[in-house]
Amino acid sequence: MIVYLDNSATTRQYDEVTDLMADVAKNCYGNPSSLHGLGLEAEKLMKEGRRKIALGFNASPEEVYITSCGTEADNTVLMGLARVPRPRAKKIITTAVEHPAVLEPAQELERRGFEVVRLGVDRHCRIDLDELKAALTEDTLLISVMAVNNEAGTIMPLKEIGEIKKAFNKAHGTKVLFHTDGVQALGKISLDTKKELKDVDMISVSAHKIHGPKGIGALYVRKGTNLLPFMLGGGQEKGFRSGTENVPAVCGFGLACEMTVKDLEGRSAHMMSVRNYLKQGIVTQIADAVVNSPDDGVCSVLNVSFPGTRGEVILHRLEQEGIYVSTGSACSSNHKTSKGSHVLNAMGLKPKEIEGALRFSFSEFNTVEEMDYVLDKLKTAVEGFRKLGSFR
Ligand code: PLP
Repeated sequence: MIVYLDNSATTRQYDEVTDLMADVAKNCYGNPSSLHGLGLEAEKLMKEGRRKIALGFNASPEEVYITSCGTEADNTVLMGLARVPRPRAKKIITTAVEHPAVLEPAQELERRGFEVVRLGVDRHCRIDLDELKAALTEDTLLISVMAVNNEAGTIMPLKEIGEIKKAFNKAHGTKVLFHTDGVQALGKISLDTKKELKDVDMISVSAHKIHGPKGIGALYVRKGTNLLPFMLGGGQEKGFRSGTENVPAVCGFGLACEMTVKDLEGRSAHMMSVRNYLKQGIVTQIADAVVNSPDDGVCSVLNVSFPGTRGEVILHRLEQEGIYVSTGSACSSNHKTSKGSHVLNAMGLKPKEIEGALRFSFSEFNTVEEMDYVLDKLKTAVEGFRKLGSFR
């Protein structure tokens, strides 16, 4: 039996996506910039892919720019904004728990003279909006706060942050921009740029978290936002992101996006019931387990500490039973300090809680029946470790 519970690292591609991409790669290999028929056909496919990706934001396709991944989308925002001549706006407000795709460019900008404010979080990875308000000054260029934290699953208050930004801009005549890294949010919560996110200016997403292909992402940029390109070259994406388009991946991303947002409520309710079943089982069956995710966290993530164990050892023990989990964020594993995940540290977990932390992350394919199997194997692994100190 294989139970894949590392969906925040990446997801299994939908079969429909794989089939479509193979078909496009085989039969529609033209360059969308070419003037002949094959090029026009590729351009048509790009248009259709973009239209479907835009569904993820309830936005117009013109506001969607294709990137090579979520990381590039995040970098485009920070590095692209830094290129816009705004001599007075030199402050970036972000959080201490962002993905390195935001933290690293922010640090680079700090080296170049920008001021970076990193908001702290509480035990469940929640920011304090009063702290944000206090940090907001007239020289602020950007607020960048992720939509869903990839390790804890905490949903950040984007609507409220948007309202704060809007009120501040109105009162001070400023143009502070608001970006959110929505990589872990797409397909799990609504990223509607006409409703909850109507005051968000830019959103980064990535296809491989929603059963789409790896190596393709997108950046939503609200019409009228002043952002300069960061990839320069042949002028694709209306000059905003140069580089020959990965047409099969754009088609695959579009299809995955269409499928994943189609019944967002139904899919997320299913994931939530699986997540909560596992959570309940862990809390009632495994002694001293500490749930690090908030009760109102996203449907796809459950982070739990098993003090007195080592997460990495439990992970490999579970792997022997066909269960795949994570100790933290796979895509930021290079960002760990000697004290473990920067997110769990920022949340104030004790060293033993960090050492024994596991992240279970769900997709629509997981079932409650699988969770019974996981609970059984997890209980054995945790109790075995605690009894013997390890499995040696
Ligand atoms: N942002 C968040 C919150 C993520 O979880 C990830 C990947 O895990 C990324 C950005 C990077 O996305 P990509 O792997 O497409 O570069």
